[in-house]
Amino acid sequence: AHLDRIAAVDGEVRAFLHVDAETTLAQARAVDERRAAGERLGPLAGVPIAHKDVFTTADMPTTAGSRILQGWRPPYDATITARLRAAGLVIIGKTNMDEFAMGSSTENSAYGPTRNPWDTSRIPGGSSGGSSAAVAAYEAPLATGTDTGGSIRQPAAVTGIVGVKPTYGGSSRYGLIAFASSLDTPGPFARNVLDAALLHEAFSGHDPMDSTSIDRPVPPVVEAARRGDVAGLRVGVVRELGGEGYQPGVLARFNDSVELLESLGAKVVEVSCPHFGYALPAYYLIAPSECSSNLARFDAMRYGLRVGDDGTRSAEEVMALTRAEGFGPEVKRRIMLGTYALSSGYYDAYYGKAQQVRTLITRDFDAAFEQVDVLVSPTTPTTAFPIGDRVDDPMAMYLADLATIPANLAGNAAISVPCGLSDDGLPVGLQIMAPTLADDRVYRVGAAVE
Ligand code: GLN
Repeated sequence: AHLDRIAAVDGEVRAFLHVDAETTLAQARAVDERRAAGERLGPLAGVPIAHKDVFTTADMPTTAGSRILQGWRPPYDATITARLRAAGLVIIGKTNMDEFAMGSSTENSAYGPTRNPWDTSRIPGGSSGGSSAAVAAYEAPLATGTDTGGSIRQPAAVTGIVGVKPTYGGSSRYGLIAFASSLDTPGPFARNVLDAALLHEAFSGHDPMDSTSIDRPVPPVVEAARRGDVAGLRVGVVRELGGEGYQPGVLARFNDSVELLESLGAKVVEVSCPHFGYALPAYYLIAPSECSSNLARFDAMRYGLRVGDDGTRSAEEVMALTRAEGFGPEVKRRIMLGTYALSSGYYDAYYGKAQQVRTLITRDFDAAFEQVDVLVSPTTPTTAFPIGDRVDDPMAMYLADLATIPANLAGNAAISVPCGLSDDGLPVGLQIMAPTLADDRVYRVGAAVE
């Protein structure tokens, strides 16, 4: 049914970079055989899943939305891919994304933009916009994404679905093509909070292949999603994440959600996180710095594209020609920014300062979580913007993640749940943030208000 749905709508939505019905149906049959052989499979066995094309898949190509990886077939599965395969989920395809997960609209994909199923002249968010669009368009019931600065929560918000950024280290990065390693966090997309929790539980847990993976029990997210109550819970409204720059219709739906939380018995207070205003500039130094280092591996010698290799050129020239051709403009901008921020003489002023700001933001969260159990804000300042609107204005594009970046810098858990439509008829997301390793709390509160 989902393959039929993809055939019917994906010509317009363009959520997928790779769909291969034969491989998918073979996987589905293999799950049936496992069940017939008496294997006890989990609650998601047989359910189709769309993977962001940044997770390696041994039976399907992986591009990270980049021309430089065109034609690459990974020799192994990412841990997330492997665990979900073992749990019996069936991979329905690989979804479009901003190149190397850099962007907020999926317009930075080398393979063309994905469209928002609510209004196909608008963006589905990014960088995991193929995954959000696939779930919102009923092409897949579940999808994976990665959230480095908001790339799960922002696309979830603007397509009216649920998206979760787990605690950093709670989901494995092994086999995830790296953008900014200290921030990259795999997480689930679903159409409701319980589905997201079931997916979260299925892929989480300690992974010895990822040195930042946390060796602690997975928070009880499914139980929390089933419980879904907020009576007596203290909820903090973040003063700095609202007001100026936020669309009135977004703020109106946010205020409705706060009232709903109060009516369900939560104690709502305003909380100040004074350094959150510096999160965006700190992120745009730290993330490009890490990417400039991570992307050095695409040297034309090991994977994918290779240009100018006709036997007459030096390795340096082949490398330069390949990177010039293989990387898009946003990726080049980030590599240059990061290389500059890390260079001697500028390191302390830019990268070092940004790391200090990161610590201050973590302390803001610590202080806030002494007063309240969860923090709330709108997920994004605006609803989905038209395709093409911000492509020539990187600063405007970066503002889409104003409210999501603090949780990435601190590493704590956060969710976006749909909270109604703005005056323009487009979906709005409510962001709920909880302390590190208290992922269950975002599911509990999310389930109460969805
Ligand atoms: N939009 C942000 C960026 O461009 C976040 C991306 C992400 O979370 N992968 O970096």
